[in-house]
Amino acid sequence: MPKRNSNHDIIVVEVIALSGFDKALAYAVPAICQLELKIGSLVRIPLRRRSELGVVTRIGTDQVVPPGKLKMLFEVVQPYPVLPLDLMELFYWVRQYYAASSEAILETMIPAAIRKGMKPKKRRYISKGKEPTAIELVTLEKRAPKQASLLKFIRQQSKPLPRVDILKAMKLSASACDGLITKGFLHETDTEEERVAYEDNLGSQDTVVSETRPKLTDEQQVAVKALNEAISTGAFSARLLHGVTGSGKTEVYLHAIEKIVASGGGVICLVPEVALAPQTVGRVRARLEARGVHTVVWHSHLSEGERYDAWKALASGEAHVVVGARSAVFAPVQNLKLIIVDEEHEPSYKQEESPRYNGRDVAVYRAMINKSLCVLGSATPSLETIYNVERGKYAVDRILNRVDHRQLPKIHLVDMRREDLSSKGPSPISRILANKLIHRFEKKEQSILFLNRRGFSTSILCPDCGYVASCEHCSLPMTFHRTDGKLRCHLCAQERPAPLRCPKCKSSNIRKRGLGTQKIEDIVQKIMPRAKIVRMDADSMSKKNLYRKILNDFRSGKIDILIGTQMIAKGLDFPNVTLVGLVDADKSLHLEDFRAAERTFQLIVQVSGRSGRGDRAGEVVIQTHTPHAPPIQFARKSDFDGFQLEELEQRREFNYPPFRRLIRHLFRGRNPEKVNFYIEQWVRVVEKEMNDQIEIRGPAPAPIEKIRGEYRFQLWYFSSNTNRVIPKIVALREAFKMDKEVTDLMDVDPMNML
Ligand code: ADP
Ligand code: ZN
Ligand code: ZN
Repeated sequence: MPKRNSNHDIIVVEVIALSGFDKALAYAVPAICQLELKIGSLVRIPLRRRSELGVVTRIGTDQVVPPGKLKMLFEVVQPYPVLPLDLMELFYWVRQYYAASSEAILETMIPAAIRKGMKPKKRRYISKGKEPTAIELVTLEKRAPKQASLLKFIRQQSKPLPRVDILKAMKLSASACDGLITKGFLHETDTEEERVAYEDNLGSQDTVVSETRPKLTDEQQVAVKALNEAISTGAFSARLLHGVTGSGKTEVYLHAIEKIVASGGGVICLVPEVALAPQTVGRVRARLEARGVHTVVWHSHLSEGERYDAWKALASGEAHVVVGARSAVFAPVQNLKLIIVDEEHEPSYKQEESPRYNGRDVAVYRAMINKSLCVLGSATPSLETIYNVERGKYAVDRILNRVDHRQLPKIHLVDMRREDLSSKGPSPISRILANKLIHRFEKKEQSILFLNRRGFSTSILCPDCGYVASCEHCSLPMTFHRTDGKLRCHLCAQERPAPLRCPKCKSSNIRKRGLGTQKIEDIVQKIMPRAKIVRMDADSMSKKNLYRKILNDFRSGKIDILIGTQMIAKGLDFPNVTLVGLVDADKSLHLEDFRAAERTFQLIVQVSGRSGRGDRAGEVVIQTHTPHAPPIQFARKSDFDGFQLEELEQRREFNYPPFRRLIRHLFRGRNPEKVNFYIEQWVRVVEKEMNDQIEIRGPAPAPIEKIRGEYRFQLWYFSSNTNRVIPKIVALREAFKMDKEVTDLMDVDPMNML
């Protein structure tokens, strides 16, 4: 219970309003709320003549509020604090380090259902009712096949499932369900406590999860021992688990998770891609569920209700483990003792909208607050992490061999310049790759083809005059979609029919340039008419059940060749894949990004790592126009140390990250002169005030000069101490007067340079 203010007989607290009031305001606490109220409680407050929600940030206040002016808060909305002490501290750190608004951070940290102060409406659940007889089953199948299939599904379930979700997923109408309820075969309830995310259930049902516990390899054992020792110190530490692809890093995580959970601790396990959460959750659950430990998933595809449930399960201490995408780093795990960041090098840990945090870096900071262990795992660690290892900030555990002494795959480089010369016309699939694909298909083994997503691929180009179909709002080539013959802009979603003749010179030679997954699919299908080929791209990734289905079909052997962008390269484990092709390895080398070499190296190693994970050796074909480029050569030899030495040397020479931190400051607006004017004015201010603390580069037009009709200019600040520099820049910026038509954003430790 909060301490009473000695002068008056009332309790005063400070509250930050969720609606974006950065300053905390003082409120008095009514007597009936005093027991419930804690630091981090969500409360309803009177503000600006309205009723709003806020978070209690402090009990007591130094603010001087004239007597009679102090308002009384209305109620405590949630029994569990929405920002317990550790998350409160994290909140302040994120706000300062990433120069983000309270509003944006609270929005990220607190799920919408909770933030809105409402409880999700009760959902109806169905479970099996009385047992049908064999005759009843047969009759049902004949007369009402839809009811029969629904009944069959429900009878396989151990827990009640939400009715609407099932009907939607099975494409059934309410009447099928009602019919079964009338007959008594199904039972309907509206209990909240039995609610289980439908998606999880499917996930654990159809991903193959072995319950058996493999015997650890020697190298795994050494790593597990090191983690256990770190855990038993009870202090903060960060460790890099650097193991080659297929070295069984997940098994090492599982051992650490088990150890933590056995002593009542909580765990956050971050994965870089939503699609991977169910796979990992399945493996974690297979280990922990038997011990009665509850694991929840956490990512952006959850419905509000599912997110609410996950949140509540963690906040109440009913669940101890969460597996999720980057925002799970803010999950209210109780007694947090371990944070795992799998594939820590992935750029997807960085959020590209406000707050622009990096989930990996927030994880390390949160572990520090919670005196926990943070494990960063990767086969291709980021240079930032390698640098932290070199400086002694992180410890490192290495696994140099694959499990069971499986070989790393053999990597072939195909020089596409020669390929273009020697074949009749350039084909995006080299003959070597085509032959190997055919060979696998004949042996009933599976292949994956990757396309480098970065870079601009499928636009329309006129060979006669050089016209490129570009978006008039974004100064970027538009993508040609073959299915509906339309051009689309990936940045602003503008679309228009693709021209049949060049709009500039009227030539009918206008044709597609570059490659999309669709084009590759067509070409490969022509080479192998009988093969079952499936494409996985941004469209299928956005439909949660579709990508799940594709991955399951691939796993069960219904698909021979899977084609996709590197999105699907992350962490997938398919034992029957023995060939991986990377169609255009060097596209990511030619970007205006100081991490281009690092990205290319990581891409090749990660993509290669998907091959030969079962008991047959794997092969990899890398197609490139620049076979001599160092990242490609190092990747071919799987020489991480060689690559890292050379690349760190380069970065040191230019004093790029990780040697200094980088901040990107972007100005944008519809009127380019105005934007330019204000950025020039601003540069004078920072130069004058901060020249001795940061190096300023720019202003210059951003590589993508225009998006959605807004012109963009940017500045770069290099600094060796962001913690000190950011508050100063923010203070200067607040005092700087800018035109309403120009907006700016700051990105600390940016991943996106465009
Ligand atoms: P990584 O994440 O390092 O690429 P995974 O953790 O996905 O590797 O493991 C690769 C495969 O090896 C998985 O199928 C896993 O079940 C299996 N595996 C892991 N450890 C062992 C072990 N000690 N013995 C046998 N198989 C193992
Ligand atoms: Zn033309
Ligand atoms: Zn556009």
